[in-house]
Amino acid sequence: MPITLEYLQEKLRDWKGCDLAKTSRPVLGEGNPKAKIMFIGEAPGQKEDEQGRPFVGAAGQFLNELLTSIGLKREDVYISNVVKYRPPENRDPTPEEKEQCIPWLMAEMAIIKPKIIVPLGRHALGHFITTESITEAHGKPHAIGNFVTVFPIYHPAAALHNGGLRQTLFDDFAALGKFLETMK
Ligand code: URA
Repeated sequence: MPITLEYLQEKLRDWKGCDLAKTSRPVLGEGNPKAKIMFIGEAPGQKEDEQGRPFVGAAGQFLNELLTSIGLKREDVYISNVVKYRPPENRDPTPEEKEQCIPWLMAEMAIIKPKIIVPLGRHALGHFITTESITEAHGKPHAIGNFVTVFPIYHPAAALHNGGLRQTLFDDFAALGKFLETMK
C-alpha cells in the first residue's frame, strides 16, 4: 500500500514518540499533494493546536497574504512544520523534540517530492542549511544537488514582533515568485 498523507495523518494520531503529544494535538502539514513548493515552519501555536491544522493563526494569516502577493493560494502549495505538536506557551522546540518529529517531515517530503523547499525561520532552516544563518541565507535560492532548491525566508511571526521585517518578507516572496517563473 503506498504511503499517503491520509495514512500519515492516521498514524500520527496514535504516535507517542514525542512528549509534547501528552499536552497537545497532532498537526500534520496540509495542502496540494502534488505541490512543487513546500513551506516548512517551526511548530504549531495555540490556534493550530485547537484546529489541528498548520498556520491558521496570526502568522498563518500573514503567510496567506504573502502567498497572495505572488499569486499563490494555499491550495497550490504544501505547508508543514518541523515539530508536529505545540510546545507549551509557544516556547522554542528543543533539539530533542525536533529530532523526534523529523521523520514525519521526511515522510511528507517523500510523498510531496517538492522541487522548492521554503524553510520559514531558523528552526526549519537548520534542517537544510547549517553553514548560514537565516539572516545570511534568506531571500535567495540555494541549490541542493540538481534536484531541489532551498529558498529560506524569515518566519512570518517574526514580522508580527518586528515590524521592520514585514517589507523584507514581501521582498523575499517577490524574489521567490521570480524564481518560480524561471522554473516554468
Ligand atoms: N508558526 C509555525 O511555525 N507553525 C504554525 O503552524 C503556526 C505558527
